[in-house]
Amino acid sequence: MKYSEIMVRYGELSTKGKNRKSFIMQLARNVRQALIDFPEIKIHADRDRMHLLLNGADSKLVVPKLAKIFGIQNFSPSIRMEKDVSKLKEAVQEIIKEVYTGKETFKIIAKRSDHDFELTSNELNQTLGNAVIDVFSDIKVQMKKPDIPLRVEIRRDAAYLSYETIQGAGGLPVGTSGKGMLMLSGGIDSPVAGYFAMKRGVEIEAVHFASPPYTSEQALQKAKDLTAKLVPYVGKIEFIEVPFTEIQEEIKRNVPQGYWMTITRRMMLRLTDEIRRIRHGLVIINGESLGQVASQTLQSMVAINEVTNTPIVRPVATMDKLEIIEVAEEIETFELSIQPFEDCCTIFAPPQPKTRPHLDKVHQYEERLPIAELVYRALAGLKMETVYAVAKSGQMEEFADLL
Ligand code: ATP
Ligand code: MG
Repeated sequence: MKYSEIMVRYGELSTKGKNRKSFIMQLARNVRQALIDFPEIKIHADRDRMHLLLNGADSKLVVPKLAKIFGIQNFSPSIRMEKDVSKLKEAVQEIIKEVYTGKETFKIIAKRSDHDFELTSNELNQTLGNAVIDVFSDIKVQMKKPDIPLRVEIRRDAAYLSYETIQGAGGLPVGTSGKGMLMLSGGIDSPVAGYFAMKRGVEIEAVHFASPPYTSEQALQKAKDLTAKLVPYVGKIEFIEVPFTEIQEEIKRNVPQGYWMTITRRMMLRLTDEIRRIRHGLVIINGESLGQVASQTLQSMVAINEVTNTPIVRPVATMDKLEIIEVAEEIETFELSIQPFEDCCTIFAPPQPKTRPHLDKVHQYEERLPIAELVYRALAGLKMETVYAVAKSGQMEEFADLL
């Protein structure tokens, strides 16, 4: 049977008290953005649920997009039909005919918000259950965890039937926690960090440091492709490319090898923080994971972090590499991440980076660099581009009046 709407159940929203309304509105905006290729779909958001009226859109194409939107607990494609008992009987028989293979148990779960309807919920359960058994005499009813829970809702406007519940992505709607700048390399960890930040409602902008001609066009493209992999969760992401060649050359020329890495990272962080300020972000997110490499000892973290008071969110800091890889595979960034294009850090990686950098040395070496000018020039050369998952089309809707 053809689905006419998808009923969406909110996730953690329910615990958020007075923020609820803005959460639902943000979720509605995110759903619209993700379904921008389906302008025929109408979104009705109320306090408890969201209804997507498909208006002919193919639910098979809509479902995978919806499954990626944070803030959705689960959703059920459903069939809208006339509130007529004999038609309802036919419909439940037809649904069971489609899904029953001879093994499954079922249960009718009826609910009515229209109390003028001729049958009560219990009577509906009886009547529709019997209608199924009339046709499939061997089918078993099971009260607890039936294989086919066939939900029938009698609302004011119509009756709604559904029998499958699809797991949503969980988390909070992106945008409800403010904006953060994701330091995105071409590696495995930072895209995963970005994914986790978005899952907790943070809108991200990707900041990528490139050092042409030492880093290639492919390395830059790889970072953009990784960004595109994160886009389906939000609809679009700003990609900000930072020219980093001059800074890396200056560091190489003026700083002893052991401190290249620490000072390079401090420069990256200074620049990201400036970009955050310009772009009105609240935090910085990176893919640092404790102990992976020299830059990721706690001592290094302290030395690098010294340049800013801005909170740095490190979603994968305490995860094992294998755990991170598992997520990277799930979100389909892994294959891209392991493509062998050198990034700016690999190319300028010193043979023996300090794993315990001393702050007084760091300060002493940084005095040799015109930090403010280097930052200024890099900022002057920023390039911004919006990465979309789908072609831009359609109009944003106003949701305020729906709530
Ligand atoms: P990743 O897998 O994310 O590259 P990594 O394990 O290779 O991480 P590092 O190279 O030490 O670790 O980088 C630590 C973090 O610094 C990265 O996760 C990323 O957030 C940031 N970073 C490193 N290189 C860049 C870059 N070229 N542009 C933007 N951010 C970067
Ligand atoms: Mg890396």
